Amino acid sequence: MTGLRVAVVGGGIGGATVALALVRRGVEVAVYERRDGVPPVGSGLGLAANGHRVLAGLGLGPALDRTGAPIPTMRMLAADGAELAHYDTGRLLGMRRADLVRIVLDGLGPGVVHHGRECVGVDVDGDGDRPVVRFADGSTATADVVVVADGLRSRSAAAVVTPPALRPSGISALRGFVDGHGLPERLATGQNAWLGADRHLLSYPVDRHGTLNFAAFVPRPDGSADEWSFRVDPDTVRVAYAGWDPEAAAVLARAGEVYRYDLADRDPFAPWSRGRVVLLGDAAHPMLPHMGQGANQAIEDAAVLAALLGEADGDVPERLATYEATRRPRTDRIQGQSRRNGERFSGARDLTSAGDSGADGDLSWVYGYDAPAAGRAAAAGLRPS
Ligand SMILES: Cc1cc2nc3c(=O)[nH]c(=O)nc-3n(C[C@H](O)[C@H](O)[C@H](O)COP(=O)(O)OP(=O)(O)OC[C@H]3O[C@@H](n4cnc5c(N)ncnc54)[C@H](O)[C@@H]3O)c2cc1C
Repeated sequence: MTGLRVAVVGGGIGGATVALALVRRGVEVAVYERRDGVPPVGSGLGLAANGHRVLAGLGLGPALDRTGAPIPTMRMLAADGAELAHYDTGRLLGMRRADLVRIVLDGLGPGVVHHGRECVGVDVDGDGDRPVVRFADGSTATADVVVVADGLRSRSAAAVVTPPALRPSGISALRGFVDGHGLPERLATGQNAWLGADRHLLSYPVDRHGTLNFAAFVPRPDGSADEWSFRVDPDTVRVAYAGWDPEAAAVLARAGEVYRYDLADRDPFAPWSRGRVVLLGDAAHPMLPHMGQGANQAIEDAAVLAALLGEADGDVPERLATYEATRRPRTDRIQGQSRRNGERFSGARDLTSAGDSGADGDLSWVYGYDAPAAGRAAAAGLRPS
């Protein structure tokens, strides 16, 4: 036990996981989340084997497996439904985003997460060498370490670095849930990706009750939608895929509420820490969703950072630098591959071009990564011999 007090800015999947991993090591943690409750419903995500491994190690495996939908295979289809390829997904679990965050927050117990606390900035040396978090209501909180986990449009990252500008991808995601009952088995239980000339469509189950999530990636329409709650006419998505595979149409025919979100990422950047303030998740390495890895990488970050901070002893800045050195080669690579996948999936590049995943779709380097082991190894490397 280190006696450290850690403040986490942002209670999304990254912030919640690092808080839980630290609490399990006896570290005192406070999470400050601007929302009043858990994330809004309306979107799903795939918890991959690499993320599941971390959360299972924190004791959440049974709750996740009871709630999410196991997805054994991913089929890549042409717009007309012809099968192009299929992949083993590893241990992919389709989940509602809100369920995933709730399960991690439930693991934290009461008193750790403070909702309705909007952070407006962090002062690196606000109190001697201890950082201070500033809130919209004028209040402050001092901690030994501040973890900035406030997402793609991080406000508090500025305490550490001036990140490169957001890079709009020119693609918008139109997404929603549909009732999958009565649809063919391959739609109801698998992940399907239909790939067209300038757009692609993804569908997969997110719970044990037959709910499917769809994410339709289309050239960005006029206007802008950088909030998850931007609602559009459901016919938008049906029109965008008119004439495609009847099975794709069958999914979209059921769409009721549809939300648009404009995709953006940033080029990899450094550093991730300054003094005792450190970035995690999308705040550190925002990536496009075309590898389904943003949340999984935030979860991996949490495992490595908690392993290092759990043994901190007056050497916090060195530990934060070790966290970055451990994580960055991997997140840089996944950020780059996520961009390239976006181009491949929307027809701009040949689907059979190898990229980092290899033409055979071997993603074992992604799913096989053991973040808790990487964290333990990094921490062991700092112990006096
Ligand atoms: C369409 C789409 C599909 C995706 N699918 C997948 C997938 O299948 N698998 C996957 O792994 N990833 C997926 N992702 C990526 C994933 O959503 C993100 O990478 C992940 O949510 C990042 O987690 P985070 O905790 O870093 O940030 P976030 O989830 O964005 O959480 C940040 C938190 O900080 C809070 N916050 C923000 N500002 C403040 C503030 N000023 N003060 C206090 N709190 C604040 C927010 O309310 C939020 O709760 C997808 C993304 C998109 C857009």
